[in-house]
Formats: sequence, C-alpha cells, structure tokens
Amino acid sequence: MSQGTLLITGGAGYIGSHTVRHLLEQNERVVVLDNLVFGHRDALPLDRVTFIEGDMADAALVEKLFAEHKPEAVLHFAAFAYVGESVTDPLKYYRNNLAAPLTLLEAMQRHSCKRFIFSSTCATYGDPVRIPIDESHPQSPVNPYGASKWMLERVLRDCDRAWGLKSVFLRYFNASGCHPSGEIGEDHNPETHLIPLVLQAAAGLRPHITVFGTDYPTPDGTCIRDYIHVCDLASAHALALNYLRKEGETVAVNLGTGKGFSVKEIITTAEAVTGRTIPVSYGERRAGDPSELIADPRLAKQILQWQAVHLDPRDHIDSAWRWMNGTRRGRYAV
Ligand code: UDP
Repeated sequence: MSQGTLLITGGAGYIGSHTVRHLLEQNERVVVLDNLVFGHRDALPLDRVTFIEGDMADAALVEKLFAEHKPEAVLHFAAFAYVGESVTDPLKYYRNNLAAPLTLLEAMQRHSCKRFIFSSTCATYGDPVRIPIDESHPQSPVNPYGASKWMLERVLRDCDRAWGLKSVFLRYFNASGCHPSGEIGEDHNPETHLIPLVLQAAAGLRPHITVFGTDYPTPDGTCIRDYIHVCDLASAHALALNYLRKEGETVAVNLGTGKGFSVKEIITTAEAVTGRTIPVSYGERRAGDPSELIADPRLAKQILQWQAVHLDPRDHIDSAWRWMNGTRRGRYAV
C-alpha cells in the first residue's frame, strides 16, 4: 500500500538497491539520495525512481529535497562499512556514519518527518557473551564501525524522547546473495566479504580464497556466521515501514536466520553450486573476528511479522554466482 514518498539514502548501494526494488514492487514512491561513493547509478531503475546524486551532509540539498518531496519516512542505508578501515581511520567513520546523518535528522525534525528505518548491525553487540544473540544482549562494539552505528541508535532514541521520531533499528547479520533477476548484486570495491571473494576465486579472478583462522572453538575450526539473504533484508524494511505506519514505537530488531554456517561450509557449498574446485589457502585469524555470530530472530517475527525465507546458503551463493555471470555491467563476466 503506497502512502507518502519514501526517502532512501544509499539506495544505489548493495542492500539499498535491493530494497528499492522491493518497495517499487509494493507500489511505493521512492526518492533515492546517494553520493555514489560506493553506490552504482545502474543499480537503480532510473525510470521508476527519483534519483538525487548528493550527500546527506549537504544541508542545502537535503532541505530542498524535503521541501520538494515531503518524504513520509526515511530509510537510511548510506554508510561506510569496512570494519578494518574503521579501525585505522575512525574519524572517517564517525564523520560519515554518525555526524552526516545529523543533517538529515535536522531536516526531518524541521519538516515533521517522524519515521526512520536504520541499517544497523550486529557489530553493535561486539564479542558475543551468549549465542544466539538477542536484542537485549549487551552492546559493546569492538570497532569504530560498530560504535558509529551504536551511537546513531542512541541519537535516534534521544530524538524520539525530544520530538517523537520513531525508528526501527534493523541489526543486520551477514548480508549475502543477490536479486533473483541477476540484474543487481553485491558490487563492492574493494570486496572484503566471504561469499563474493569465494566466487571470485571460483571464477579465477583471484588465485585463492584465504580462510582467516582454522583454530576457532567451532566444529571445523573456522568462524561461523548467520548469512541473511539480501532479499530477506529488503522485505524486512517494507515490514518495518508498515510497523511505523501503524504507530509502532522505536524498537531494535535482529535480522538473521538463527542458523550459522562455517567458512569451510560456505566454500564447500560454493564448490557444489559452481561445479568448480576453489583454491583455498589457510591463513591467520583476522583481528576482531568473533568465532560465532548467530541471531536470535524471534523478535522480528513477533513485532514485524518478518521471517527469513532463504535459509539455505546454496540460495545465497547461487544467486550471487548468477549475478556475477550475467551482470549487465559484465564487470565480473566469467
Ligand atoms: N573470511 C575469510 N576470508 C576472507 C573473508 C572473510 O575467511 O577472505 C571469514 C571472516 O573471517 C568471517 C567470515 O568469513 O569469519 C565472514 O566474513 P565477512 O567479511 O564476509 O563478514 P563479517 O562477519 O566480517 O561481517
């Protein structure tokens, strides 16, 4: 059901562009604001969205956008997300992920736009003290990326108290997979995520995949993650919007499947999906990697009526492989 216009920051990025597609399928009206630092113009159906190339920290641009389009809600994806870089260049992360959205929030306050859907992360929890991780798990981020997201959650709660801004913090676990059309996908440069790197190794675009650590306290010694399909993330955003439209209160919810897979299991599955042998090298642990991250996703079901449907990692890997092979850009054509 379409109501007002939706403003989507970072709508040309990986998760943003999948959510844009999903919202258009629901007949929503969408304005995308993206500075294209990491987003891709051709990830957007430009005949069906209003696209504004620009930065959310540009106060004049954001004011004009609000005056013209009067968005009913903001879905905020725009952020930097390289954990390692956030450790070496924290100010870049606090500037972009924490300070820049303040300009956006000021415009929302001026224009009485009181619905905010925030791309938060399980990195706000830090090293887990229990598995699965529910939303009441202590938040103790161990890197500036997680801290910047956690701090913005805090800002949003304060805005709720002060002027009634209602937010849903969607704490993503490991986003993966691509749109079934094969038209949009995970297109990071540089790429640091496991599944695209494994597939690049399968395609011969890199010599091997390095497994970061084989001595973790897990059954096969490699890290376990909860891989959540990007199309499931997209549908959660639409349901979070419904929730806020029904006057829901500010809430944080995990978006995960509740089931984990090890790095070795992902590689084996990718070999089965691609029919190729994937060269593997075994390396040291990567700093800051907890051995296991698995969501307790029950609250999302209870509050948003959301549940992941892509539970088999073969689905994630197969859709990512199809995108790599068939992308319109041909960037990874194999
Ligand atoms: N990983 C790996 N080799 C790589 C990239 C990632 O072994 O080249 C592992 C990483 O240590 C983690 C898992 O794969 O245990 C998922 O990592 P990713 O960077 O995709 O997501 P994160 O869990 O850091 O958000």
